Amino acid sequence: MISGAIFSAIVAYFRGLGRGIASSLRAVKTTVPYLVGWGELRKEITEQYPDPVSSRTEDDLPPRTRGLLFNDIERCTGCLACSKVCPVGCIEIENEAGPDPEKKWVAVFSVDFSQCIFCGLCVESCQPASLMHTKQYEGSVYRVSDLKVGFGRGHVTQEQREKWDSMRKSEDFVF
Ligand code: SF4
Ligand code: SF4
Repeated sequence: MISGAIFSAIVAYFRGLGRGIASSLRAVKTTVPYLVGWGELRKEITEQYPDPVSSRTEDDLPPRTRGLLFNDIERCTGCLACSKVCPVGCIEIENEAGPDPEKKWVAVFSVDFSQCIFCGLCVESCQPASLMHTKQYEGSVYRVSDLKVGFGRGHVTQEQREKWDSMRKSEDFVF
């Protein structure tokens, strides 16, 4: 005599099995016509990339497209506004003293595109408008670490600093 609990478990098992088989058949019903080329079901629903026919370019994208970021480091003041507003903290900035005491030397300015969510907040907060979105969207690389892109001027070397110091001493030196 099968108890009620065992009977319910057997029913649930076969019900699940039936659902699994039905699901598989639905999948086969979709894929097999594509496989053997039956009528309308065999239409292309994928797009080759890059598309050799229409070959979409960056110019085809809307003007306010948020592509990969670019920082014009000549205009960047190293104010840190962008890194402070970034919700994921993927902008790294290191400032040093440069030849002009009034301006920061932005030694490191990197964006980790593996974390960036392309929200645009950094661009909006950049007063000198040095930081901008490009329309570039193809950023695939083989190593995740390569998605960290630098725009900084590099750390100042001792030799460079000495050169600036001597230039500062000369009367005709203008910053
Ligand atoms: S677009 Fe958004 S997530 Fe990306 S660096 Fe700027 S603020 Fe950060
Ligand atoms: S907000 Fe603009 S100027 Fe300020 S550190 Fe960022 S990129 Fe440079």
